[in-house]
Amino acid sequence: MGEKEGFLKYKRETPETRGVEERINDFNEIYKPIDEQKLNQQAARCMDCGIPFCHQGCPLGNIIPEFNEAVYQNNWEEAYFILRSTNNFPEFTGRICPAPCESSCVLGINKDPVTIELIEKSIAEKAYELGIAQPNTPNVRSGKNVAVIGSGPAGLAAADQLNQAGHKVTVFEKNKRVGGLLRYGIPDFKLEKWVIDRRTEIMDREGVVFTTGSEIGINIKADNILQNFDAVVLSTGAEQPRELRINGHDLPGVHFAMEFLGYQNRVVNGELAANPIHAKGKHVIVIGGGDTGSDCIGTSRRHGAASVTQLELLPKPPTQRTQLNPWPEWPMTIRTSSSHEEGAERVWSVMTKGFISDEQGKVCGLEIVNIEWKELEGVMKFEEIEGTSRVLPCDLAFLAIGYSGPKRNGLLEAFGVELMENGLPKSRAFKSSNPKVFLAGDMRRGQSLVVWAISEGREAAVQVDEYLKGYSLLQQKDESYLEYGKLKEF
Ligand SMILES: Cc1cc2nc3c(=O)[nH]c(=O)nc-3n(C[C@H](O)[C@H](O)[C@H](O)COP(=O)(O)OP(=O)(O)OC[C@H]3O[C@@H](n4cnc5c(N)ncnc54)[C@H](O)[C@@H]3O)c2cc1C
Ligand code: SF4
Repeated sequence: MGEKEGFLKYKRETPETRGVEERINDFNEIYKPIDEQKLNQQAARCMDCGIPFCHQGCPLGNIIPEFNEAVYQNNWEEAYFILRSTNNFPEFTGRICPAPCESSCVLGINKDPVTIELIEKSIAEKAYELGIAQPNTPNVRSGKNVAVIGSGPAGLAAADQLNQAGHKVTVFEKNKRVGGLLRYGIPDFKLEKWVIDRRTEIMDREGVVFTTGSEIGINIKADNILQNFDAVVLSTGAEQPRELRINGHDLPGVHFAMEFLGYQNRVVNGELAANPIHAKGKHVIVIGGGDTGSDCIGTSRRHGAASVTQLELLPKPPTQRTQLNPWPEWPMTIRTSSSHEEGAERVWSVMTKGFISDEQGKVCGLEIVNIEWKELEGVMKFEEIEGTSRVLPCDLAFLAIGYSGPKRNGLLEAFGVELMENGLPKSRAFKSSNPKVFLAGDMRRGQSLVVWAISEGREAAVQVDEYLKGYSLLQQKDESYLEYGKLKEF
């Protein structure tokens, strides 16, 4: 290890953000670049633990201490190679991952953890800057054709892996452009879309075919795909939003979060002239406390909302881990996103009772009531607190309470995929009930994270490769970086 006591010498530092007053005037990324010397010091904080718990924390099994060391040595080529051996898209996760690796970093027991996510983003950016991130076209083709349906992170990871294994991969995407929720869900202030284009241009030059504006099941039938391809990966996401069946849920002014965010992303990328759902001067209520809710807050602030209030059914989490939630578990502590910093009132332990309409029949208020959580026979239940019912002003409401699974539009059935009672497809080791059809991402595991989608795409690719060739050299957590080390005599 370069600097044995780096963790004692240097404090955790993350990049500065652009000030709130500046950044709410645009949709650009909020972080400023970090100085290279500081980054080097951050890498030096890694203790190169005998048992690196960060590995276990990362769904991709990223080989973190090794790339930290390479960054410390300024060896960007080695760092990128190590990182890419487990993660196809570090430029995405380096920007928007909630970084479970950092929550399980050993340093986090009594100090601030290593800034693993920042180091990951920096390696990816440096690789592009130095020309290390280049197309790598496979030398041998297998003669097999694979269709990947859906171009979110799961589909893109599966396509990248299968193309590298020599198969001819065609990605079908119903939207105008590829990226899934990376492009049409997550706002630019978290992930600017040139980051996706830069990667998919490389994949395109490596031979992956992208067919956009093609909704499978509508423009092209499932039978057609099954006949013309040797294997199919379904990675169509979990697009079925959870509904809130309370009075007035269908009033004008009450929207699913993804309607609002989808439009806004289309405005920012030039597909749409203006957002038909605009928050300017409105009292906005966001129902749901997760990432999607946060993105609605940041977008509403940028529109110039009069007020933004976020409601959450669960109680306010503690600021520190409790004894019941020790390291290295995922910390159930309060999270303050950059959008929260931009201004929103957060209200916990409240239940929504019903929307109220004005004379024109549009939403103008939301009745809520405080609740108390109690453990009854080992199960957490809540009760309304009498006398706490009140009406909040509400001209615009966004439902950000999650997704229940893939759309119920008959697509899965058309591919011969059986469903479970909860609407998710039956799957075993990424295989569906149709031997030719494989499953990956949110459509298989339910709504999740980008890092899990990439992991699922990689795992599904191993299964497809084995199905097509009888064996696979693709591995989810591969150690080809060791080969690289040998070849380059590090
Ligand atoms: C608003 C929002 C913010 C989020 N923020 C974060 C975050 O900050 N960090 C994080 O880690 N995760 C975040 N997530 C979760 C993350 O985006 C998802 O877990 C991830 O994108 C799932 O990837 P996927 O490839 O499985 O599906 P998706 O990204 O949903 O991609 C599925 C793709 O399939 C396409 N498709 C569907 N049906 C068809 C069809 N019939 N034919 C052709 N194409 C089809 C869709 O158009 C879409 O492009 C967020 C989610 C949302 C909604
Ligand atoms: S757990 Fe933290 S300190 Fe230990 S090797 Fe991983 S990143 Fe470094």
